[in-house]
Amino acid sequence: MRIAVDLNRCQFYAQCCFLAPEAFRLEAEQVLAYHTQPDDALREQVVRAAAACPTRAILIDYRDMTP
Ligand code: SF4
Repeated sequence: MRIAVDLNRCQFYAQCCFLAPEAFRLEAEQVLAYHTQPDDALREQVVRAAAACPTRAILIDYRDMTP
């Protein structure tokens, strides 16, 4: 799984950081750090974080995952 955050859309609400803290972290007031290839074990958390993002800024690419 690969993820990308559209930083033009991200408003740093930090819902993703609460829902998937191992994948997303707010490092400063407007600095979002994230793993571009989080472990597959985090998949559920990351999907929930993407769904909760108010600006739909989190993009998930599942192409490299085994079915
Ligand atoms: S929930 Fe969305 S808007 Fe908020 S910090 Fe995460 S990516 Fe940005």
